[in-house]
Amino acid sequence: MAERFDALVVGAGAAGLMCALTAGRRGRRVLVIEHANKVGKKILMSGGGRCNFTNTGTTPANYLSANPHFCKSALARYTPWDFIAMVERHRIAYHEKVLGQLFCDVSSKLIVKMLVDECLAAGVRIETDCSIERIAHEDGGDFRAHTARGAFAAPALAVASGGLSIPSMGASGFGYEIARRFGHDVLPTRAGLVPLTLSGKHQERLADLSGLSLPVTASCNGRDFSNQMLITHRGVSGPSILQISSYWQPGDDLRLDLLPGRDALDWLQRQQRERAAAELKTALGETLPKRFAQRLCEHWLPNKPLKQYNLPELKQLAATLSAWPLVASGTEGYRTAEVTLGGVDTDGVSSSTMQSKRVPGLYFIGEVLDVTGWLGGYNFQWAWASGNAAGLAI
Ligand SMILES: Cc1cc2nc3c(=O)[nH]c(=O)nc-3n(C[C@H](O)[C@H](O)[C@H](O)COP(=O)(O)OP(=O)(O)OC[C@H]3O[C@@H](n4cnc5c(N)ncnc54)[C@H](O)[C@@H]3O)c2cc1C
Repeated sequence: MAERFDALVVGAGAAGLMCALTAGRRGRRVLVIEHANKVGKKILMSGGGRCNFTNTGTTPANYLSANPHFCKSALARYTPWDFIAMVERHRIAYHEKVLGQLFCDVSSKLIVKMLVDECLAAGVRIETDCSIERIAHEDGGDFRAHTARGAFAAPALAVASGGLSIPSMGASGFGYEIARRFGHDVLPTRAGLVPLTLSGKHQERLADLSGLSLPVTASCNGRDFSNQMLITHRGVSGPSILQISSYWQPGDDLRLDLLPGRDALDWLQRQQRERAAAELKTALGETLPKRFAQRLCEHWLPNKPLKQYNLPELKQLAATLSAWPLVASGTEGYRTAEVTLGGVDTDGVSSSTMQSKRVPGLYFIGEVLDVTGWLGGYNFQWAWASGNAAGLAI
């Protein structure tokens, strides 16, 4: 005999816990099934241990999806201010770092504790270390989860099992398998918010500069992000690169403006007027990290005293400095990616309730769906908003 609930939630991450506490507050009997040994592992490791739990500037424009309209309804009905209100009710101190990104002052553990406390107060049961052997479903009837802890049944099943990033933290393709089994399309997945790798001469030229960081504007496929870039042993990382990585695929043209916010030709002409005898690498070394400026002048820019450049040459230098081509060979993959792009096709899911349009009672929430946010708290905001939408509908 299966133990009966009103809803089974697969995955005790951000979206699953939010869905469970929302449905639980409405009097629903909810069981959360988590295969890892503890809940909210990604929340715990997020934001360097301080969880960037939302972004006050969240809009639908901060998300990638084959259907950019899909996220609108849920985001409008559960805003960053709704989550902030819960954080304040639990007296969790937080601060804005930059650009609307809110972080805990002390620890991500407080966010997990808040979600678990809210779940318990709403009568939600959470089973950790509980792997699912199979899910059965009778037409129009209950979903039945056969687990290591026995069988559980409910008329609603919310799939909140996340994406493929960081397998060591419990990530699995479970949600995609369930979606396919119930007739949903799953759009191709790939790592997002992930460091890029370089190979061959591109890597050799930069590898020993590993650890250097500089502000750049990274552009690809009509998108650009201005922020720090970090050179790593195998390639490049840092916020500007993580952001643009979600828009990049192998073979795409990726450019970096190395003098962001400045007109490169103006800057070069001013240097030429003010310090004609200085070499390009010296002038550049005062505005870029010195070793990086030298490396640029060894491989990408002809170096000589500034007074020796004519106007066409200066224009050429300016063109390279403002749109330096970065030939990435790939990404570091799911091992280090913060998110998974693609996933359950939103065409088959209601944008107001997250319920499957094919199978009544089946819900998909959080990262398992083809909705992926930028870096900066947007992914958690999507988890809260989609979890809330399903929790209100179940
Ligand atoms: C290192 C890192 C840092 C990040 N920092 C931030 C940040 O600061 N701000 C931000 O907005 N986003 C951040 N993210 C992204 C954010 O963590 C995710 O977008 C978010 O956690 C997605 O929520 P989710 O509930 O959909 O999935 P998850 O939080 O991944 O939860 C899914 C849960 O399902 C469980 N599960 C999987 N398969 C099964 C199964 N078969 N049976 C039972 N349980 C299963 C998993 O163990 C997990 O607990 C970060 C991600 C990483 C990897």
